[in-house]
Amino acid sequence: MVINDKEFGEVIVRKNPLARSVKFSISTSGRLQMSVPKYTSDFLAKRFLNSNRNAIREKLPIKDPGEQRARDYQKKVLMKKAREYLPYRLEYLANLYGYKYTKCRLTHANTRWGSCSSNKTISLNIGLMKVPEVLRDYVILHELAHLNHMDHSKSFWAEVGSHDKNYKVHEKKLKHFSPGI
Ligand SMILES: [Zn+2]
Repeated sequence: MVINDKEFGEVIVRKNPLARSVKFSISTSGRLQMSVPKYTSDFLAKRFLNSNRNAIREKLPIKDPGEQRARDYQKKVLMKKAREYLPYRLEYLANLYGYKYTKCRLTHANTRWGSCSSNKTISLNIGLMKVPEVLRDYVILHELAHLNHMDHSKSFWAEVGSHDKNYKVHEKKLKHFSPGI
């Protein structure tokens, strides 16, 4: 359930069968989140929220609801762009250099541009749609090279370098951008 609160914006209410009391926390999207015992009514949940306003205000770093909405919107737009581009670009570059991966996953974690798992799934951050194409390609080639080397060894970098001669410059330039939204 979501409570639309005048002060805190959208408050996520999670009914937790194991919870014995009400707990307030911040969700990954920056929203206020309350975990309540399973049989708590919506009416009671709202009452808990009202009686804890001061404590919440003092202790929890809730993002401004307007800012949240703007970020949600930006994420949606980026996800749409990413869906229409990244899986195809990955496929193109993999075919070009003879790589075989099993799946492409789109993520929006705040810390990494991409990853390659041992079951050959390649994850790409939708934030890549905000960086110049040449850096985007570098990230994809970097993850593809991990299909053959699950580390950052010399032979890994040699393989990256064989597809992208300027990989060192690209790696550096990428640091000017952040994958988070
Ligand atoms: Zn890597």
